[in-house]
This record gives sequence, structure tokens and C-alpha cells, in this order.
Amino acid sequence: MLIIKDISNLQSYLTAYQNRKYSIGFVPTMGALHKGHGELIKKSKNDNHKTIVSIFVNEKQFNSKEDFNSYPRNKGLDYDFCSDNNVDLLFEPSAEEIYNKDETILKNTYFNNILCDKFRKGHFDGVITVLNKFFSIVKSNKVYFGEKDFQQLKIIEKFIQEKYEFLEIVSVPTKRNEEGIAYSSRNEKLSKKQLQDFISFHQKVENFLNSLENSFDIEIANQKAKDFIVEQDIEKLDYFEFRNYDDLSFNGKVSESRLFYAIYKGKIRLIDNLKI
Ligand code: AMP
Repeated sequence: MLIIKDISNLQSYLTAYQNRKYSIGFVPTMGALHKGHGELIKKSKNDNHKTIVSIFVNEKQFNSKEDFNSYPRNKGLDYDFCSDNNVDLLFEPSAEEIYNKDETILKNTYFNNILCDKFRKGHFDGVITVLNKFFSIVKSNKVYFGEKDFQQLKIIEKFIQEKYEFLEIVSVPTKRNEEGIAYSSRNEKLSKKQLQDFISFHQKVENFLNSLENSFDIEIANQKAKDFIVEQDIEKLDYFEFRNYDDLSFNGKVSESRLFYAIYKGKIRLIDNLKI
């Protein structure tokens, strides 16, 4: 496996791939890799001749320096993970390499002021700013994103339609552990007790979801969601609501929706979304 840190070196390999007419799949990540990332890599390996994974903890998408500094990082294990998953090329640039003194922040105009955008102001501006850099550097045929970050996936779909016509976005279902919670780098920061509480919360959410009729209007389901969530012992909650999975509105039936939540355990913010 190649580990490349600078753009010019990366581009010489990309040119060689393109000259051989290899299709390239790209999996952007922030590292601390787990089985969820593994699913994206597997899908890309299956679809393309070459798979590139990037590891870059993008400061511009964090709302606080503290959250950025405490984001899990485990370089050595990530190298092993990528190598065990037969990644062809790992791109791990520095912030200087990516931003090169360019402080321009793109403004995300899609799905504004709802879900994570409402509670993490500017987060998605940072996400599209860095992806804009990566997409124009890597110029892959396909790029892979997880449904775990559903609003992010929807925003990037729109962004790609608007700016990167050559690029195909592929979405990958959320990978969960046996207890049902989604693999996430942030889970590593939870204490044993916090993890246990989170699992039990998530399982109650699944039971709640199973108690609903597919044919309910989303609005009705949201009234039930409110009744359910006030009964739970949660330190802090950003949102817990059904939205239409197409346009993230409150229109339609539960069968056309996902239940989105963002809760805190201590300082750790945990998000997920579930289909009925
Ligand atoms: P991150 O490193 O957290 O920025 O995530 C990189 C990519 O992996 C994003 O497209 C995420 O949506 C995706 N991802 C994270 N966790 C999971 C999971 N449990 N299942 C599937 N994809 C995931």
C-alpha cells in the first residue's frame, strides 16, 4: 500500500492510473478507522480498479478547537486497517498541503437550518470546503459516503450535481455492531457506562420505531416521538425527529422517512438515523 502525503506525488500516481484507464474509487475519512469505514472501502474495492482512502481531520468543520483537538486519532492502527483492507493508496496530507494559505470557506446552501446544520453552525461549510479541495485533487470516478451521516450525504449529493458532474456519488448503508449502534470514531471516547447507556437508549429507540405504523403521517409520528423522548433520561438533546428521506421535510408517511437523532453523552455528540 502506498502512503502519500503530498499532492504532487499523489498526482503522478493518479496520472499513471488514468493512463492505464483504471477506474478510481475515493473514500474520504477523518481516520480512527472502524468497520463502518471498512464497508465503504469494500464497496469501492468491488466497484473500481483502484481505491484511494484519505485521512484528514479537517479543522474547518469543527465547531470548537476543543472538539477538534480531542477527535480520536490513531495513525498506526489506521495504516494497518487500510493495508488489511487492501487499500491501494492512502492519502494523508497536512492542513498546509490542503489549504495552502487559502482561507476561503464555501457556503453550503442545501438543507440549511435543520438537523445538524441548525446545531453545528458552519459545520457543513467546512465539509464542502474540504471536499471541494479533495474532489479537485483526487479526480476519482466514484466517491463513497455513509448513510450514517445522512444530511451530509444529501448535501454532498447536491454539491456534486452542481460542481462535479464527472463524479458519481455512492451511498453505503450504516454498519452497526451486534447491539445495534452504528460504528463511529466518537464511540471510542465514551466511558464504559456512557457506552452502556447509549446502547440501551438506542435499543429503546428501535422498540419505539417498531411500535409505529408505516402508514402514519410524519407529523403524527413526530408527536409520538416527542412523547417518547421526554420520557428518556438524556443529558442533552439536539434533535429527535422524523423527516422525509428525500427532501428532509416533514411531508409524507413514516414509510418514506428516517428517524434522526443527535444526543450527548457527556461532551460526546452522537448522531444516527433509522429507517422504520
Ligand atoms: P468520518 O471519518 O467519520 O468523517 O466518516 C467517513 C465516512 O465514513 C463518511 O462518509 C461516514 O458517513 C462514513 N461512516 C462513518 N461511520 C459509518 C458507519 N457506521 N457505517 C457506514 N459508514 C460510516
